[in-house]
Amino acid sequence: MKLYEEPPAVISSDAHPAHKLKLQVTTDGPPFRCDGCKEPGGGKERRYSCDAGCDFDLHTTCALSSPTLKHPLFGGDVEFELLPSAPPPVDATYCDACGDRARGLVYHCFDRDLDLHPCCAALRMESVVHGGHLLKLCGEAELRCIVCGEKQGRRQSSSSSKRFWAYRWCYDGVTGYLHVACMKKIAVMSWEQDYKDGVGGGVVEASVTIMEGMLRRRSPTGNAGSGSGVELGIRGLENITKIVE
Ligand SMILES: [Zn+2]
Ligand SMILES: [Zn+2]
Ligand SMILES: [Zn+2]
Ligand SMILES: [Zn+2]
Repeated sequence: MKLYEEPPAVISSDAHPAHKLKLQVTTDGPPFRCDGCKEPGGGKERRYSCDAGCDFDLHTTCALSSPTLKHPLFGGDVEFELLPSAPPPVDATYCDACGDRARGLVYHCFDRDLDLHPCCAALRMESVVHGGHLLKLCGEAELRCIVCGEKQGRRQSSSSSKRFWAYRWCYDGVTGYLHVACMKKIAVMSWEQDYKDGVGGGVVEASVTIMEGMLRRRSPTGNAGSGSGVELGIRGLENITKIVE
């Protein structure tokens, strides 16, 4: 996916043809639900909102997504098409990255019957996040996920396990895996917390504190007891575990 360095200030979208959509750079509101993919977004995340005041918001990723997509985790011969909603049966469509339902705008591959949320398709393959954590996106977790304790992810509202994407985190010489699905849950929780506390964070950034705490606990030289970040991470993890179960 082509990510725009500087998204345009105003756009038109087929999803809301009546009015222009304006880039909201500084918002201070509650988390929102994207009217494209129907997935949540953070209150401080950049988004496109109706310029005439309708309750209509799009993730910047959804608003600017390209009509077709190839993804490095699926190889060059797998092509996805952007569809306003998944082909029927719609209620049985799950994102092959995070395992959540695909309820709206979706990248679909007709040959292989694969689906990706635009936001999942746009996840960075590699990045270095706050604090020096090195992240690499993988097709599946090679070790048990630090948050849910499972290797394979689980489809939302289904007991069948399937391989879902995970980030491999390297921090301070220790490696751990975290499902994209689990990171999304952490992000949503932190956005709700942010709304009260006023601290920002994207899907990836929201997991940093928790992963720092967990990886430091695993490190032979680490000191789990020091630093409020670690305690915050472990406390956060206890909350997440409750949500995930
Ligand atoms: Zn969206
Ligand atoms: Zn409008
Ligand atoms: Zn997804
Ligand atoms: Zn997990």
